[in-house]
Amino acid sequence: MTPIDPQALFQQVVLDHYRKPRNHGELARPTVSAAATNPFCGDRVALQLHLEGDRIEEVRFQGRGCSISQASASMLTVLLKGRTTGEARRLMERFALLVEGSEEAARDVELGDLRVLQGVHRFPARVRCARLPFEALESALEARHET
Ligand code: ZN
Repeated sequence: MTPIDPQALFQQVVLDHYRKPRNHGELARPTVSAAATNPFCGDRVALQLHLEGDRIEEVRFQGRGCSISQASASMLTVLLKGRTTGEARRLMERFALLVEGSEEAARDVELGDLRVLQGVHRFPARVRCARLPFEALESALEARHET
């Protein structure tokens, strides 16, 4: 087997999610919604969650901007479905380590397709793009706490 070029894998996975975003659109009755913007790149990600108790039953996102921000949002929604809010917070912590360049996080299967974003630590301006959906998630979980 030929080894997989990490750069090629990054391109392939990011472009796939960017062109065919998963869980894209709006929920009829979201429990919480939150959006985050990145003025440096013009990116925007809006996230909607439908919660049953502590469990994320459904999730949708809408947005615009660069491929990294939109692909990251798509990958995140895939992982959020069916998780508890506590698991979602843990995912946020793992992702923060990943985009700081953690090799251990890059091998963490819990992070799913998001693992390809480990490479963004070499491009500090793009780290914010990758993090944007997580900023929206954090706001959504905080809004949930206040209700
Ligand atoms: Zn961006």
